Amino acid sequence: MKMTDVLATETKPVLSLEITPPDRGRSVDELFTAIEGVMEFTPKFISVTYHQPHTVYEEVDGVIRRRPRRKKPGTVGISAAIKNRYAVTTIPHLICGGFDRFETEDALIDLHYLGMENILALRGDPAPGHTRFVAEKEGHNYASELVTQIAAMNRGEYLDELDNAVATEFCIGVAAYPEKHAEAPNLDKDLALLKHKVDSGADFIITQMFFKFDYFRRLVEKARAIGITVPIIPGVKPVTNRRQIEQIPRLFFATMPQELVTAVEGAKTPAQAFKGGTRYMAGLFQQLLDFGVPGIHLFIQEKSGDSHALLSAVYGS
Ligand code: FAD
Repeated sequence: MKMTDVLATETKPVLSLEITPPDRGRSVDELFTAIEGVMEFTPKFISVTYHQPHTVYEEVDGVIRRRPRRKKPGTVGISAAIKNRYAVTTIPHLICGGFDRFETEDALIDLHYLGMENILALRGDPAPGHTRFVAEKEGHNYASELVTQIAAMNRGEYLDELDNAVATEFCIGVAAYPEKHAEAPNLDKDLALLKHKVDSGADFIITQMFFKFDYFRRLVEKARAIGITVPIIPGVKPVTNRRQIEQIPRLFFATMPQELVTAVEGAKTPAQAFKGGTRYMAGLFQQLLDFGVPGIHLFIQEKSGDSHALLSAVYGS
């Protein structure tokens, strides 16, 4: 099922989940347990993040060799496993980082053969240990270029001219940032570039996490004002502990409102912090539903039970 087809037919906001593959060498079972923990809320889509390798240089027989090492491999395998195991549509993320255009084409062919109908097309974060994103030689610098390549394959146009090439049918999602992307000079410029991604062929938008409803409303209003008409799905992350209050602004450039900080940091015990954070996020979730969002994209984690608590607080269990 394509995201846009589902959004067009569902009368209620569609729940989707975002998961991250385990670190290399770890079992995937904890991830399946986390998914099973929220299946009662009938997610329609599960997206799987993609992780750029970091490059290590090793000396082998006196020759320095470049070795890409990926901490979290398995995006394509996990996407296929989830699709088979839970009969839920998966959305593999595909990034520009670490791929040249020819490798991207091969990855798209694999995803097409696996029957994937949706892709979240992203530039990707700078490689581990780097502060700036650097594209591969003959790779893409921006997500819009990746979207352009996928849209071309949807028309049957591959990098080389091929006779009777099969057209793929990917429904393409892209990312947006309610508080602007960290590298963008301001929100208006970031939104103009978001429009460019949509004009290049994106069918839907999923946002970065944010913790104040007004940020999302402002993004939607500004996006609509400049002619972005595709569905915009808010990304929601449960916040239930002090570590997240410290880490999230640093890692995701998302502002923590004082009310949420107080709910978590002012709590006397971790259990109270969990409750306070969940109550705050359930309020934000409800505001989004009341606003009429087409769906909610929930970033879920293994083990903690925070997503179940949040969904139970909103929908009952
Ligand atoms: P782009 O849209 O390319 O934008 C990157 C920056 O460049 C922005 O500042 C933008 O304003 C600017 N820009 C865009 N186009 C141009 C242009 N033509 N000229 C000049 N400037 C331009 N990262 C991963 O590594 N793996 C994942 O799986 C992953 N999943 C994500 C899921 C979601 C829902 C979100 C919101 C983010 C995710 N990210 C992931 C993070 C994302 O890759 C980073 O935020 C990255 O820094 C930007 O990606 P983008 O696709 O938004 O980039």
